[in-house]
Amino acid sequence: MFKYCSLYSGSSGNSFFVQSDTTNLIIDAGVSLKKIDTALEKININGENINAILVTHDHIDHTKSIASLSKKYNIPVYANKKTWSAIPNIATKIPDNLKKIFNISETFSIGDIKILPFHTPHDAADPCGFNLYNSNKKISIATDIGYISEELLNYLKDSSGILLESNYDPEILKYSSYPYVLKQRILSNTGHLSNLSAAKTLVKLYNSGLEKALLVHLSKENNFPELVYQTIKNETLNCKNLSFDIAPRDNPSDFFEVV
Ligand SMILES: [Zn+2]
Ligand SMILES: [Zn+2]
Repeated sequence: MFKYCSLYSGSSGNSFFVQSDTTNLIIDAGVSLKKIDTALEKININGENINAILVTHDHIDHTKSIASLSKKYNIPVYANKKTWSAIPNIATKIPDNLKKIFNISETFSIGDIKILPFHTPHDAADPCGFNLYNSNKKISIATDIGYISEELLNYLKDSSGILLESNYDPEILKYSSYPYVLKQRILSNTGHLSNLSAAKTLVKLYNSGLEKALLVHLSKENNFPELVYQTIKNETLNCKNLSFDIAPRDNPSDFFEVV
């Protein structure tokens, strides 16, 4: 068994969950501890059984409750060195024995899941995504991405399942009330990924075996789920066996299992 879901997703806070036969991982905890506990209850997981928290980057919508979650259930937290340095106020609240460091592009294991962190272009200290491997299957976690570089695409290839950002629609962004500087930030190569870029990425990955895609981190102001659905649907018309779903903002998504 190797499956994944989103617990919460959107600009207001993100947390994802991955499960194998023996290992439970939380990736990012960008909402309150209370909300994480509520979601875990909904998916029938006891916090005591979480083996690790992985952190993609230092932004608060990914790190808000990593310290309280770690302390409550005694869960080790894994982040790279620069990410730890960028969250001093959170890091000091986590006991030293629960603070773990990984290096990007170096594989490590938690239980029966092998993890390969890879660079993502985003305006954080040292942002990354994760390739997760179990029983010859690969699930990739890729959110907060300015654009899909060749290098990044190579890391995503051969995934059976992906959790991919689909943040904004450029037309809505153009007319939204966001200040000009923020719009430029979102559009830049170290900002966020548009619906169309996400859709085109899925088409490329379908050709290397992608079966399941969960679209995450939708902007509240500059996007809406029906538009993501339609954009992905239109672009992936020829990807007959691809299933995709859009992660709800305030509830766990359904599980996607790769088999
Ligand atoms: Zn984010
Ligand atoms: Zn971010």
